[in-house]
Amino acid sequence: MKTVLKCGASALILAMAGAMGPVAAMAADAATQVAQVETDTVTRDNPFFHQWNTRFGVPPYDAIKPAHFKPAYERAMEAHLAEIKAITDNKDAPTFANTIDALEKSGQMLGTVARVFGSLTASNTNDQLQKIQREMAPVMAAHSNAINLNADLFARIDALYAQRDNLKLSKEQARVLERYHTEFVRAGAKLEGKDRERMATVLQRLAVLSTQFSQNVLADEKEYKLVLTSESDLAGLPEFVRAAAAQAAKERGEDGKYVITLSRSSIEPFLTFSANRALREQAWKAWVARGDNGDAQDNNAIIKEIVQLRIERANLLGYKTFAEYKLADTMAKTPQAATDLLLQVWEPAKVRAAEEKDDLAKMAASEGQNIQIEPWDWYYYAEKVRKAKYDLNEEEIKPYFQLDKMLEAVFFTANQLFGVTFHELKDVPRYHPDVKVYEVKDKKGQHVAVFYSDNFARPSKRSGAWMSSLREQEKLSGKVTPIVMNNNNFAKGAEGQPTLLSFDDASTLFHEFGHGLHGMLSNVTYPQLSGTSVLRDYVEFPAQILEHWVEQPEILRRFAVHYKTGEPIPQALLDKILAAQTFNQGFATVSFTSSALVDMAYHSLTDAKDLDPDKFERDELAKLGMPKEIVMRHRSPHFSHIFSGDGYSAGYYSYMWAEVLDADGFDAFTEAGNIFDPKLAKKLYEEVYSAGGSKDPMEAYVAFRGRAPKVDALLRNRGLLGTGARVN
Ligand SMILES: [Zn+2]
Repeated sequence: MKTVLKCGASALILAMAGAMGPVAAMAADAATQVAQVETDTVTRDNPFFHQWNTRFGVPPYDAIKPAHFKPAYERAMEAHLAEIKAITDNKDAPTFANTIDALEKSGQMLGTVARVFGSLTASNTNDQLQKIQREMAPVMAAHSNAINLNADLFARIDALYAQRDNLKLSKEQARVLERYHTEFVRAGAKLEGKDRERMATVLQRLAVLSTQFSQNVLADEKEYKLVLTSESDLAGLPEFVRAAAAQAAKERGEDGKYVITLSRSSIEPFLTFSANRALREQAWKAWVARGDNGDAQDNNAIIKEIVQLRIERANLLGYKTFAEYKLADTMAKTPQAATDLLLQVWEPAKVRAAEEKDDLAKMAASEGQNIQIEPWDWYYYAEKVRKAKYDLNEEEIKPYFQLDKMLEAVFFTANQLFGVTFHELKDVPRYHPDVKVYEVKDKKGQHVAVFYSDNFARPSKRSGAWMSSLREQEKLSGKVTPIVMNNNNFAKGAEGQPTLLSFDDASTLFHEFGHGLHGMLSNVTYPQLSGTSVLRDYVEFPAQILEHWVEQPEILRRFAVHYKTGEPIPQALLDKILAAQTFNQGFATVSFTSSALVDMAYHSLTDAKDLDPDKFERDELAKLGMPKEIVMRHRSPHFSHIFSGDGYSAGYYSYMWAEVLDADGFDAFTEAGNIFDPKLAKKLYEEVYSAGGSKDPMEAYVAFRGRAPKVDALLRNRGLLGTGARVN
């Protein structure tokens, strides 16, 4: 699954950001003469201290050095605190303008520094950046606390909120005020005395732990390489897997050999094709053991402390569990409502998975393999069953899914739906040569956004796929256009060869681009409501609904063309791909849903002092009746969605929640008989993609769809209704 990284200026106030203490302490670093000289250079040449004269104001990555970040953070935090002080020192009674507008305009430099820093630590990190990241995590948390727990500031917001009905606010202003009030209360602004201090300590410690968690996972992923040398090591691997493995080997100094890494796009094809069962077992075990190896990078103790601190955080705010606290500010509203949905798909998914397993066992037996299907056999035999049932194999599909063509396909889809066009910018600085940058224009040729597309896996990049913003759209400080980034982890094709995607990869590309459009098409006044700044279980909707377009014959016939012959995908193959869409959905649904249920179980605990994550995970899965041949999509020790940052904690269910919306929502286009139906596209733009967080999500959905969502389309698409219909 994929995550959205959000780091808005307004979200920053609440999520990240400095207490004077640590800032002052950091400034004292430059003790020696040499350090002093360096610091002077860093100050004079620091790009963060100057206006950027780049095109569209994109970050001057070519001029930014790791040493620039600490001084930039320091100055930005100081400026931010001064802005906040100006608000609280104001002798005038609080007004929307002197409090909320002022808050919305504050912290701009900090937002910029943090977003650029975040883009580098996620996509092209190094030891120096990682060290700064560890040092800055508690400093930023302290900064955040200094604002979120600022009693004078909250008193002004609270006073405005109390008289909100008499302030003659626009709809958007009313929502901004409501969001500020909610978020401040949820951050602990109403706490006093010892409780307030304790909250600050807890949040700071959590920031440190979650940074450590993700760095441990990254380290395990980076260190591992399965080196293949002999023909028996390579048995069964098709050309495209060998080519990607050869490229990975080259990048890791194993020239002439083949390397499989723990990146999903490297290991999944290996597990799918390798005929060497012992190597499959070895690779699979390393993959599911990330963060769980009993070494310095083991995450179990970190999980225990995170869960316990989250319980304490929830308790301080008057909630029994962290899940209750988290869900109170979502569409689902309660852990029960989210769990109910998960269980609604869990039972039929298990039944389907058991049927799938029987098919795999039969396939193995037919090849004379009298074996019990183990988790490292699933991908391998599933591919064979798929081939037998649908006469379809991954090797046959991949030549038709070139990355460049699929990128054209997402641009085409966006153009047909929303009229935007994409124009490559060759002359803007980037942090890695593989990154491509585009200018986005509207129907009239007006500038809309800048889009960064970073698609390849590399050792310095974290795994997964995500969208992030380098600048968020708003109109409060003039016409600010967005700069949006998509990251994927596709295995790069060999030199001179195109990068070929699996059908899943192509869906991921569309998914992240859906988040991207949510950021790029945003058309709101207030930063607080910009783009993807929406409730957590709604944020996946604009991403997931876009995935449906990659499954449409209209798109595939046009963009799925063979990389050698240029021939469009044959109708027969297309039919088979679409017919095969419900295949293996028992497995996919079980691996996803078990992760979501375990997430909810961790965060429904009322005490974690004796938590043993490995045992807890085992016990919870046993209670659920987890099939032993399937593993959670993300096992606890590398479940970054829930333990690296707060984003999806007690929130992994959000993908399924949003799937109810995307499955049901895309049906509207199917029912209209036109996947680019202009009327529907216009509503989708107005209610969803351009609206950011300015509307209540359910009201926005109903305004787009004309009625409330139904769960039927989801069950049908996953093939869990037994209707034989197709999927996602
Ligand atoms: Zn997503």
